[in-house]
Amino acid sequence: MNDFIYNGLPSRVIFGAGSLQHLERELDRLGLRRALVLSTPQQRVQAEAIAARLGDRTAGVFADAVMHVPLSVAREARAVADRLGADCALAVGGGSTTGLGKAIALDSGLPIIAIPTTYAGSEMTPIYGITDEGIKKTGRDPRVLPKTVIYDPELTLSLPTTISVTSGINAIAHAAEALYSQDANPITAMMAEEGIRALASGLPCLVRRPTDIGARSDALYGAWLCGAVLGSVGMAIHHKLCHTLGGSYNLPHAETHTIVLPHALAYNREAAPEAMTRIARALGSDDAAQGIYDLAKANGAPVSLRELGFKEADLATALDIALRDPYWNPRPLEREPLAALLRDAFEGRRPEVARAGAAESVVPR
Ligand code: NAD
Repeated sequence: MNDFIYNGLPSRVIFGAGSLQHLERELDRLGLRRALVLSTPQQRVQAEAIAARLGDRTAGVFADAVMHVPLSVAREARAVADRLGADCALAVGGGSTTGLGKAIALDSGLPIIAIPTTYAGSEMTPIYGITDEGIKKTGRDPRVLPKTVIYDPELTLSLPTTISVTSGINAIAHAAEALYSQDANPITAMMAEEGIRALASGLPCLVRRPTDIGARSDALYGAWLCGAVLGSVGMAIHHKLCHTLGGSYNLPHAETHTIVLPHALAYNREAAPEAMTRIARALGSDDAAQGIYDLAKANGAPVSLRELGFKEADLATALDIALRDPYWNPRPLEREPLAALLRDAFEGRRPEVARAGAAESVVPR
């Protein structure tokens, strides 16, 4: 075995159908008395129900979370938290809501309790993102890592199946890149493979039966593991491309991950053979890239950037932006093959299986 460094992050996880019932106990454990409940406008009802249940332990509800955390919304939420004397942020929702909690925590140091209702995985990471004038700035800070995460699969029953599939593949993307990360290690590899396996088994079942609590539990368990590895190791070209497409072209987060991932895996296929074997094994497929593409397509997710309204004329500029400040990647970043990757993602082509002998032409850094 090679030497490695493993960064375990401190967070407490309460998992299981009905585990929302433990919310009061968890607040008590941290000595928290006045929670500001956060949500998107779409989940206001869910947030208000939780606030009503907490009674005078709720400082109020702030239901204006939106994707990519605009600075103006973050400032407003922080001011509301101050005005209402909140002692914690209670984020009820997906990555957008957790992200708003993180923006409040970054500025104020207030602890976050996260109740995730998608599979994005943000609740397990110390990574924050705030968008100002079209530029999304991201960073890592231990203050934004939620103190306690309550994973209650019952709260995901209402997540529409198409969003469930793209959100689940967004989670798989974290695990897939963790497997070939510069910081990959045996612990995160184990979590990543198990996370992919749980999602690959849960997603098709929940598409067939959206209220199947077993399938929902598998998917949420997988999302937790995938989020944990995202928090622990660095990401590569796939996340860089999605960050660019989301940040500069406002493409929807989970859908973009779903479309780009098969092509990013095909790009890295020969440079990271062990990771590809693990991903394929977890998917129950012969090939990692094709396995992700088939999982998306068979379960009704979009497979082309064209479907998202992305313009063909923007492909070259998007690549320029992505290459400006690149992340480490197991295969060197080569412009022509990357342009082909983006074109394949634009068209929604199923990745081809590796050509024999292609491995010699690619040398990992
Ligand atoms: P989201 O939080 O924007 O949710 C998508 C939509 O689904 C919203 O309208 C939301 O209200 C709704 N929704 C969520 N759960 C629901 C449920 N159970 N029932 C019905 N509707 C529900 O989407 P997301 O994909 O979870 O998060 C995307 C954001 O998270 C992006 O901004 C991304 O950058 C960020 N993110 C950050 C990290 C990190 O570590 N910092 C990790 C992953 C994603």
